[in-house]
Amino acid sequence: MAATTNSLSDRARALHAESVVVDLHADTASLMRMGYDFLAEHRPPLPGSAFGFHVDQPRMLRGGQTAQVFGLVTFPIRKKGLFRSALHQIDLVQQAATRSNGGLTFVTEAEQIEQAKITGTTAALCGLEGVHALEGHRDNLITLATHGLRLMGLSHFSANEAAHPAKGWRSSRHAGLTEFGADLVRLCNELGVLVDLAHINRPGFFEATRLSLDPVVVSHTGVCGAHDMWRNIDDEQIRAVADTGGCIGIIYSRHFLGGSTVEALADHIVHCYDIGGEDCPALGSDFDGLIVPPRDLPDAAHLPRITEALVQRGLTDRVITKIMGGNVLRVLRSVPTKGYRPDETKTPIEV
Ligand SMILES: [Zn+2]
Repeated sequence: MAATTNSLSDRARALHAESVVVDLHADTASLMRMGYDFLAEHRPPLPGSAFGFHVDQPRMLRGGQTAQVFGLVTFPIRKKGLFRSALHQIDLVQQAATRSNGGLTFVTEAEQIEQAKITGTTAALCGLEGVHALEGHRDNLITLATHGLRLMGLSHFSANEAAHPAKGWRSSRHAGLTEFGADLVRLCNELGVLVDLAHINRPGFFEATRLSLDPVVVSHTGVCGAHDMWRNIDDEQIRAVADTGGCIGIIYSRHFLGGSTVEALADHIVHCYDIGGEDCPALGSDFDGLIVPPRDLPDAAHLPRITEALVQRGLTDRVITKIMGGNVLRVLRSVPTKGYRPDETKTPIEV
């Protein structure tokens, strides 16, 4: 415990304790498929906290993290079973919430996250990482929305029926959204599911920002203005997201940040703020997504160090509170979900 807090200023400690802290993307549901108990405390097994075991409910609480968006990852190596796998992962997150006796609540709305903060508990949301999991059927998005899906990422590491990735199998520098992809963006607007532009190539990115009637998010990314690399987004992309009223979750990967400490993460957040304004930056760890986090940010228990780094950069309390979670709350509030009917989805999902 001492290691997480001993270098904090009083101001950062108090500010972090008051803030609703929301992380837009972690891949922990993939670990949960292999038996990882989200309600138990874990220690990263590898040196440098490489690759996984970064977040669980006890460490969320210790690190002052209120809400986690769970990315639902499916691998398009085989064509069948992707949709069932996405449903199964929502079910695993909901099962963890049920077992937690109120310590973790499955939610979709900003008010529910604020309620978790008030009661000193934690909240879980779900986002799809790539629409290959829909197996080409728009109805599958409606089904996922009725089970509580809150974000839909158009792309992951391969081209799919909707879009092309910035890198990976059949990546493209020129192809935009397909008609199916454009239809999914419109369907997201109808359902109150946020469109997530992590991983997608530039033409698809801009097309989606133009098409969406609602704010869009980039759930986990770095920014080229702080470190230029293929998966990071440039200033034009930051402005395009900000123009929709959306926000951008900054990733905690050393590889994407181009540095090995929380200072590199602060560089990316501050650049996003400089270009997109104070309503734009957010957190999007990619914890448990095979990343190597900054050495002083090895897991969710160390999140107060981000607040400290932002205090050191001279940002105001108001702006820091927005970055740590306020901006995500604003976007969620502006796009209330219309598809989720919790009372009708109590039956266990068949997998
Ligand atoms: Zn990803």
